[in-house]
Amino acid sequence: MKISFHGADQGVTGSCHLIECAGKRILIDCGLYQGGRELDEENAEPFGFEPANIDIVLLTHAHLDHCGRLPLLVKRGFRGEIIATAATRELARLVMLDAAHLQEEEAQYRARKAGRHANAGVTEPLYTTLDALNVLDFFVRTVGYDTPVELHPGIQATFLDAGHILGSASVLLELQESGERRTLLFSGDLGNAGRPLLRAPATPPAVDAVVMETTYGDRLHKPLGPSVEELYAVITSAFHRGGNVIIPTFALERAQELLYFLHEGVESGRLPRTMQVFLDSPMAISATRIFEHHPEAYNAATRELFREGRDPFALPGLHFTRETAESMALNRVGGGAVIMAGSGMCTGGRVRHHLKHNLWRRDSAVVFVGYAAIGTLARRIIDGARSVHLFGEDIAVHASIHTINGFSAHADQAELLAWHAATRAPRTFLVHGEPETMQSFASRLRDTRVEMPTLNQEFEL
Ligand SMILES: [Zn+2]
Repeated sequence: MKISFHGADQGVTGSCHLIECAGKRILIDCGLYQGGRELDEENAEPFGFEPANIDIVLLTHAHLDHCGRLPLLVKRGFRGEIIATAATRELARLVMLDAAHLQEEEAQYRARKAGRHANAGVTEPLYTTLDALNVLDFFVRTVGYDTPVELHPGIQATFLDAGHILGSASVLLELQESGERRTLLFSGDLGNAGRPLLRAPATPPAVDAVVMETTYGDRLHKPLGPSVEELYAVITSAFHRGGNVIIPTFALERAQELLYFLHEGVESGRLPRTMQVFLDSPMAISATRIFEHHPEAYNAATRELFREGRDPFALPGLHFTRETAESMALNRVGGGAVIMAGSGMCTGGRVRHHLKHNLWRRDSAVVFVGYAAIGTLARRIIDGARSVHLFGEDIAVHASIHTINGFSAHADQAELLAWHAATRAPRTFLVHGEPETMQSFASRLRDTRVEMPTLNQEFEL
């Protein structure tokens, strides 16, 4: 029995882990690296294993850094089965199609530039829309939470609610080979308790080994209540100044939860009824529909709201902008608007246009609500850049910049430690974190052997 690591090793993106047991090869996630240009090249590198030899992929959730290299896996020969929850399957479809579309656009842009500069280089997209569509044929079964599935005699998987995004799961593997048995738990990305829409992560069982995320392994989040108040204060103040509020967020990440809080803010009179909210994403409508189709993935209170026919995302001034022309029209909105657009780390997507039109304005505000990996535009702005390069121009950063991590979809250090303690695992593999964060988290763990794998490193279980 072996485990090897092929992404999110000493880094936050590109999750991909391989289990070999009883002659079978099982992949846990196959995510995209996100960040600078060097990461584009990293995505195109060989996987570190032969895709055609993989029997099964277990997908923990639909975020791009967990599912974004699946089209490449299929393109390079994978013909096995992909297993996920029903909500993850639907969301992953949207996410992969969107990623393929962005890559096609970028490739076209590079091709145009290469034509002008007689400068060869990679102009092929990493994968196309057709490649992303092909992946859907391999999602044969979906699984519910807490229901063991036999993958092969001697190999069983159980998906547990990870409370991170709709449909997200931790994966428990029960492995057997030549009379040896091991239990291994992959945390996936873990959410935090007390959210308005999702349930808290399930309490994990005791296992022989864990592979766990450490995104926020070195810090505690601000509580949710004060974070909501801070958001209302930022919006109110930007509107008084006559500006807009830009919230970089992907349609499937914090968007629905933010809509819920904006709705609450208007209902309670803390935000103006005249507030215009733009969810600027071609995926937004489909994504919100998927959310409405999966009441099984919500907590009891939200299920009840839907049952009563009340839409917790409804707002008087809410607009979904699907078309590019509608999105561009937002550039003329002078003030009084909250604009949510992806990508959350500002590595691509429509948010870059909104940043171009608002970052230089002292009356506007930019609010970051999710994780921003090193090397991303979001991270540079958060770290205090005075100007940033966008669409060939240097744009001054004069807008007020806010990071409200109480909205994070990730567990903080205390929650990660509690989760780990419940597993009582004598062996721990830390992934999905920056090296210093991981070190700091590792120093808090007791009674376990901790590994921080490097790319393509392999371990006997
Ligand atoms: Zn995630």
